[in-house]
Amino acid sequence: MSKANDQDSIDRYRFHHIDIHKCLKCKNFWCEDACFRGIYKVINKDTTPKCLVVEDREDFCLKCHICTTACKSRAITID
Ligand code: SF4
Ligand code: SF4
Repeated sequence: MSKANDQDSIDRYRFHHIDIHKCLKCKNFWCEDACFRGIYKVINKDTTPKCLVVEDREDFCLKCHICTTACKSRAITID
């Protein structure tokens, strides 16, 4: 089974990786609420939702993995 399409839809930051294809179907935006460090911002919530790692905030991540658990679509991975 090819994973090529999955790979193509992943936005890669330094150590956060977000499958933005999964964000398109998201209605709850769990990531924004879950991260107490303000790492995520979801844009285009009413049309084509997409989760971003906020510029210059990635270093504030504690790697607590609350976000990876909170995102029920399993769109987030952290190295
Ligand atoms: S990362 Fe998860 S919770 Fe955040 S917008 Fe994407 S699918 Fe939704
Ligand atoms: S691991 Fe913790 S601090 Fe890092 S982005 Fe996720 S919720 Fe935020």
